[in-house]
Amino acid sequence: MRASRAIIHLENLKKNLEIVREKIGTGTKICFCVKADAYGHGAIPVSQYALENGADCLAVALVSEGKELRKAGINSRIFLLSQALPEEIDEIINTDLIPLVSDRDFINALAAGASDVAAAGSQSRGNQFEVHLKIDTGMNRLGCGPDEALDLATLIANNKNLQLGGIASHFSVADSTEPEDIAYTRAQITCFNKTIEEIRKAGIDPGELHASNSGAICFHKEANFDMVRPGIMLYGYSPMESEIKPAIKPSIKPSIKPLLELQSAVVHIKRVSKGEEVSYGRTWKAPDDTHIGIIPIGYADGLPRLLSNQYQVQIKGKAYPLVGRICMDQCMVNLGNRGEVERWDKAIIFGPEFTNAQDIARITGTIPYEILCNINKRVPRLYLK
Ligand SMILES: *Cc1c(COP(=O)(O)O)cnc(C)c1O
Repeated sequence: MRASRAIIHLENLKKNLEIVREKIGTGTKICFCVKADAYGHGAIPVSQYALENGADCLAVALVSEGKELRKAGINSRIFLLSQALPEEIDEIINTDLIPLVSDRDFINALAAGASDVAAAGSQSRGNQFEVHLKIDTGMNRLGCGPDEALDLATLIANNKNLQLGGIASHFSVADSTEPEDIAYTRAQITCFNKTIEEIRKAGIDPGELHASNSGAICFHKEANFDMVRPGIMLYGYSPMESEIKPAIKPSIKPSIKPLLELQSAVVHIKRVSKGEEVSYGRTWKAPDDTHIGIIPIGYADGLPRLLSNQYQVQIKGKAYPLVGRICMDQCMVNLGNRGEVERWDKAIIFGPEFTNAQDIARITGTIPYEILCNINKRVPRLYLK
């Protein structure tokens, strides 16, 4: 196996699940968001482990992601969060995914598809196909308007091939502690509650209610409802984008811990004399005679090129700076007089016990989600229990 690899510390996932469970209490289900290959961690092993250790069900973005989990033998409920194409409806039904629906056309198309499958007698879950209605309460992405929700809930509830299993919404700033953002999230929750009340008054059972992402789990417990949909916090990162200093971390105690450790190795060491330049663009010049270590991980693996000359990796417990531009498959570190570093030594790029994806995100102006999702498939994942 190549030197660069992602070690997934599953015991941290178990702890993070326990922390979420403690926060939400026992009456609320945990729907673990494992879209984008479980935020780059590997959907199958992570999902299997999570279901054995406290997650109740899963959510994906793509039909293909749901199919991959089914193929691996996972038989929990799997929600489909993103809007699929009409031509994917048969697959949604045959894969037994629970789609979040936002509009009349797609609901009707699903009903027609479910009717065909019911006629063919191959449906796995009774003769009604479960869907959840998504209401847009202020994110302005998917979801029906609150004013359309009663009509659409009625449409689903009255269709003999569909079952209204639940109603969902999604928050846009639940991770923020700015007063106006807190007020915005509260308005979203109020809008959701009001719409649900209307649906109940019309004699329709809304089913399972769910809205919270990690941000809302941390800061808006009144939105826990029947189920929460955490992603990032189960992978060990705070949902707060503006998190700058550990001192203002949200009060999650004991603290969540990252699962993913990105490792590589020093595969070559060379002497470079004072004044020589390293890598493409000659952006770094050796201030003194030094040793340069070559590490076989680059931007094609998901190490952002923006980290060039701005980051340190850890070798034998010590931090060494990246020097020169990060290349597609390799990067370089300044080992100085080498100290104890030897060829083939392990180099930790980031991980739970060192700088992490949040630190990298801060340097590169993004969020840990993107750093994690961008770790390329060619980086093997190893799972530690
Ligand atoms: C990804 C996603 C989540 C999880 O969000 P986190 O911020 O990772 O907790 C929840 N709900 C929906 C609809 C999502 O797309």
